[in-house]
Amino acid sequence: MERTFSIIKPDAVARNLQGEIMAMIQGAGLRIVGMKMIQLTKSQAEGFYAVHSERPFFGSLVEYMCSGPCVVMCLEGENAVQKYRDLMGATNKDNAAEGTIRKKYALDIEKNSCHGSDGQDTAAVEIAYFFNALELVG
Ligand code: UDP
Repeated sequence: MERTFSIIKPDAVARNLQGEIMAMIQGAGLRIVGMKMIQLTKSQAEGFYAVHSERPFFGSLVEYMCSGPCVVMCLEGENAVQKYRDLMGATNKDNAAEGTIRKKYALDIEKNSCHGSDGQDTAAVEIAYFFNALELVG
C-alpha cells in the first residue's frame, strides 16, 4: 500500500466538480484516507510550490492557487503515486489522454483542475504539509 497527495484545484472547486473528480479517484481503486477543504494563503501556496519559485509561471500559479477553495486529500492504494498521476493526465490538457481528469476538466495548462505528487518522497512531504496524523485514517 502506498499513499499520495492530491489537490482538487480552485478552477474545479469553483465549477462544483469535486464529487465527479472524487468518483474518478475512487473508481480507479484509490481510497480517500484524509480530506478537507481549505483556502490557501499566499505563503502556503508559495511554500507548497517552492520548487517552481524560479519559473516564469510561479507568480500566476500562486495567485491562482489562492483564488478560491481547494480540496486536499491523502489517497491510498497499490502504486497510488503512479496510479493517480495516470488518472490526472499530462500537465497540459492538450497532451492529456482520453479519460483523464485533466482531459475532461482542465481549462488550460495552469488551471488544470488537480495536483498529484510526483514520487513517494514528495508524497510524504506534501501529505505532512497539509495533514497531521489525527486527520488521516487507517
Ligand atoms: N504550470 C503552469 N505553467 C506551466 C507549467 C506548469 O502554470 O508551464 C502549473 C500547473 O498548474 C501545474 C503546476 O504548475 O500543474 C505544477 O507544474 P508541474 O510541472 O509540477 O506539473 P504537474 O506535476 O502538476 O503535472
